[in-house]
Amino acid sequence: MSYIGRFAPSPTGPLHFGSLLTAVASYCDAKANHGKWLVRIEDTDIPRIYPNSETHILSCIDAFEFEPDAEIIFQKDRLTIYEQVLDQLKQQHAIYACQCTRKMLGSNHIYAGTCRDLNLDFAEQAIRLKVDDLLICFEDRLQGLQCSNLKDDLGDFVLKRRDGIISYQLAVVVDDYLQGITHVVRGADLLDNTARQIWLGSILNYPSLSYMHLPLAMNDQGQKLSKQNLAQALDLSKASELLQQALLALGQPNVELNQPRIMLQQAVQQWDMNLIPKGIHLTGTYL
Ligand code: GLU
Repeated sequence: MSYIGRFAPSPTGPLHFGSLLTAVASYCDAKANHGKWLVRIEDTDIPRIYPNSETHILSCIDAFEFEPDAEIIFQKDRLTIYEQVLDQLKQQHAIYACQCTRKMLGSNHIYAGTCRDLNLDFAEQAIRLKVDDLLICFEDRLQGLQCSNLKDDLGDFVLKRRDGIISYQLAVVVDDYLQGITHVVRGADLLDNTARQIWLGSILNYPSLSYMHLPLAMNDQGQKLSKQNLAQALDLSKASELLQQALLALGQPNVELNQPRIMLQQAVQQWDMNLIPKGIHLTGTYL
């Protein structure tokens, strides 16, 4: 089996324990399957970039002694590539310009397609991808069969914002393809996005990917750890301890405290994805 996996953090805040779970699981799953593991910094959303978080991500990769199999790429350096894909989608009549504001979307945030047939000029408007009335299903390696109706559950979605920012959905699909990614391992908070990404990939004729969505680590107030609710940044002076905790949270056999590189080697040898707790949330605190 050929396997290319990746860890694709957004620098919207320092990495936290939830990010570490994704890094460790994507790394061990790739390596245990004799695959490659790549790192990509998803920094297209410039207004949301948090000061120094790119540096923090790179320091984490070093401190945990992860060894990416290719140079780390930054999406902000790849904007012309995404624009070329937008041109291609325009020629395919798969996208349209949209002048609706967020407020006009209604309470469920599903876009009703108001601008679809208005033929608005693309300049300085949001760009949306048309979706069909179609059920998209995929078998998540951990969460099982997932299905959503593109039109009823998701609606036409934004690929480029009015302020010119390329959306996560577009950049992630294009880069997964261009980097030859075969397996996506990431947090279950991104489950809902997967049908959108499968749809966009199919329009672009990209090969389909395998998905595994990990249960989310929670804080003691029962919220998922996230940069938005100010999850504690990973303390790089405790890399080995944190690695041990992350493997425990992922249900893996114990790994003795050692240098992170040695611990990761052992974790890869012992890796069994069937031991990862099922479900969307991890129960218990690990820190
Ligand atoms: N950049 C996304 C995040 O940090 C993850 C993207 C992905 O794994 O598809 O939440």
